[in-house]
Amino acid sequence: MTLRLFNTLTGQLDPLEPADGKALRMYACGPTVYDYGHIGNFRTFLQIDVLRRFLRLMGTPVRHVMNITDVDDRIIQNTVAAGIPIREYTARFEEAFFEDLESLRVERPEVIARATEHIPQMVALVERLAAGGAAYKTEEGSWYFRLAAFPGYGKLSKKDLSGMEDGARVDLDRYEKDSARDFALWKAAKPGETSWETAIGRGRPGWHIECSAMAMEYLGESFDLHAGGEDLMFPHHENEIAQSETATHKPFARHWMHVRFLLVDGRKMAKSEGNFYTLRDLLLKGYKASAIRLALISVPYRHPFNFTFDSLIDATNAIERLRTFRERLTAGKFAEGEDSAMQEAAKEARERFVEALEDDLNTADAIAPIFELVRAANTAIDQGQFFAGDCDAVLPVLRDFDAVFDVIEDRDAEPTRRALKWAEKAGRMDQVAPQLIAAQSLTDEAVEALVAERRAAKNARNFARADQIRADLAEKGVVIEDSKDGVRWKRK
Ligand SMILES: [Zn+2]
Repeated sequence: MTLRLFNTLTGQLDPLEPADGKALRMYACGPTVYDYGHIGNFRTFLQIDVLRRFLRLMGTPVRHVMNITDVDDRIIQNTVAAGIPIREYTARFEEAFFEDLESLRVERPEVIARATEHIPQMVALVERLAAGGAAYKTEEGSWYFRLAAFPGYGKLSKKDLSGMEDGARVDLDRYEKDSARDFALWKAAKPGETSWETAIGRGRPGWHIECSAMAMEYLGESFDLHAGGEDLMFPHHENEIAQSETATHKPFARHWMHVRFLLVDGRKMAKSEGNFYTLRDLLLKGYKASAIRLALISVPYRHPFNFTFDSLIDATNAIERLRTFRERLTAGKFAEGEDSAMQEAAKEARERFVEALEDDLNTADAIAPIFELVRAANTAIDQGQFFAGDCDAVLPVLRDFDAVFDVIEDRDAEPTRRALKWAEKAGRMDQVAPQLIAAQSLTDEAVEALVAERRAAKNARNFARADQIRADLAEKGVVIEDSKDGVRWKRK
């Protein structure tokens, strides 16, 4: 069995396999580092994370390249306005971006490529296009791609551009060009702006050339998969194809994956609508990183995702069920032996989980059998029909699930702690949920001490004091659970 993934280029589900029979070479458009990432951005990175994790679970190594756009019009505008060097400005948002990825448990790509560190590769690509007559220089010193040089233009987005008049602009910049459809490869330096002195003149790269040059630098002229948000399909990806294939006369990426957009309460997310959320906004409201991760991946990537706060609460509850269940298995003591129905249920859940992901990464269908298994196992445990051999069969299913979904292992404290630290530094403590501040005022050591004090109070039959401690902790988001194996506590 292999993964069949929708290919925007062919318009159908195509098997996704490494052409070299070894590692899957993939490129994903990364962030432009001029602001904090919003949940729409992170939905895309998370869905790509699901892809790479699933490939690895199935035994396919991945060579994943992601760019960091650290020079573009907005960045230059903002740095000129702030009067600080471009690197100082972008470093802050780049660091925040990687922190956010870490909070969401998005694995780091094998290669992170900054645009500003690959200027020579971009210049070489422009020179190559110019040598073939597909690039030209304007009087002011900018370079453009001659769209007429690439008859296949539009094959990815399926846009019919034949009737497109000059003046119907492909990209919205303010430079001179032969045809309004032509797009910028290199932008001439303007006074006061960051620029590079190169063989094609002083200037800075256009956004599209950046991705083509860096993809080819690390993955070769043809590679397996190119991924990104659906908003990048046109013109960005179309332009990448045009300039790359014109230069190399080879197919650029064989497979194109596009993650659909995110809505908030059924509407487009926009700052002006007041429904715009960064990851940090949600963490400060008290939602856990794991719940945000699960909510953003639980709807398959080819469906629009309608984000609601209810979806975060559902995800929180789902994760709680999984964590409690795993705790029940690892802490429980089961009689030797196995139950054939439970063995079968575990096997079937694993198969359905894999089949769903193989079918165009259907994350919703992949989650369902895991919860069915949890239900069946819980019932069996309640009825005394669950044995050590069943535990050995069910735990690996949870492990495989978590190899892709990565929400069962509880690592939620650190992202929240980090977000609070950031809020303090950034002067945003007024946005922090009160229960979060209360919970954070209590260290793990302090909780342990109170749990010990409660135990001592119970032993001394001082139940009033014991109940008081439990209530105080609950107020600060700490839940105490008494079981036959002792006392456990966790943060809600
Ligand atoms: Zn790109």
